[in-house]
Amino acid sequence: MTAKIIDGTAIAEELRQEVAKDVEALVASGGPRPGLATVLVGENPASQTYVRMKQKACDKLGIESFGHVLSDDASQEEVETLVKELNADPKVHGILVQLPLPAGLDEEAILRAISIEKDVDGFHPINIGRLAQKGREPLFVPCTPAGCIVLLKKAGAKLEGARAVVVGRSNIVGMPAALLLVKENCTVTICHSRTQDLPGVCREADVLIAAIGRPQMIKGDWVKPGAYVIDVGTNRVDDPTAKRGYRLVGDVDFDEVVEVAGAITPSPGGVGPMTITGLLQNTLRSAQRAAS
Ligand code: NAP
Repeated sequence: MTAKIIDGTAIAEELRQEVAKDVEALVASGGPRPGLATVLVGENPASQTYVRMKQKACDKLGIESFGHVLSDDASQEEVETLVKELNADPKVHGILVQLPLPAGLDEEAILRAISIEKDVDGFHPINIGRLAQKGREPLFVPCTPAGCIVLLKKAGAKLEGARAVVVGRSNIVGMPAALLLVKENCTVTICHSRTQDLPGVCREADVLIAAIGRPQMIKGDWVKPGAYVIDVGTNRVDDPTAKRGYRLVGDVDFDEVVEVAGAITPSPGGVGPMTITGLLQNTLRSAQRAAS
């Protein structure tokens, strides 16, 4: 069997076109132009790249972006004061504090300082708490896990009643992905570094999400034939033939798993483009909510 490839780049582009149209419709109807504020603390090169990509994506869709950069030694108070100013700024509909923050800053307190109405990353404890509660809805859902669910649905996965396995339990990917799958009425198992017989647990999955950070760890014989496999992993591996000396691979051994699964996301080109798209959609929704 050769799996259907779930083209995250194409699906994300389609969704971005819709966002661009909705942004212009909102402005044309007298509403505000959506605005996203980014807060970057320190000079982590990967974080600088992610923030730049997010700002560029905003520009392309007509969303205003407001970049704020604080130095590596910014105090807790400085970061929280900036967040509070952004909470009060009517031009800002979404606030994104780029993680990870430099050591010494209290990440939870900073995320809690973001108004839940502007928490477009969906990491505020209240939004995550609502995601975990039956009958409650968060104002925003974290973008990477939300992207996983969109890709599964677009690929035609039947989620209701499916056995789903999520490998990874991080606050930003694994745990919210598991909570979203529960909301979709899957029966969910969450795996982590202490899980016994991980290959055996993965083999039970109709839907398998890998968010581990270990290059090509999920092998072909870990996967149930016909399963839907979503690879969140983005890992650098040395490659002397590549221009930069490395290439990116997922947490799934694509060449093996593509022969077994029913559908699979490549990495790169799967979940990655959906993450920024989710952020743009959330910023638009926040501006629409502000308008109404
Ligand atoms: P993380 O915070 O490091 O969490 C990794 C999770 O994997 C942890 O729960 C850990 O278990 C588990 N794990 C680690 N080694 C394991 C093993 N040998 N067996 C089973 N479980 C194991 O990572 P993350 O932030 O969730 O990111 C995961 C991957 O997704 C990374 O490659 C990251 O680059 C990528 N990512 C991609 C996007 C995107 O937009 N495409 C966004 C975010 C992250 P414990 O909890 O027991 O430590």
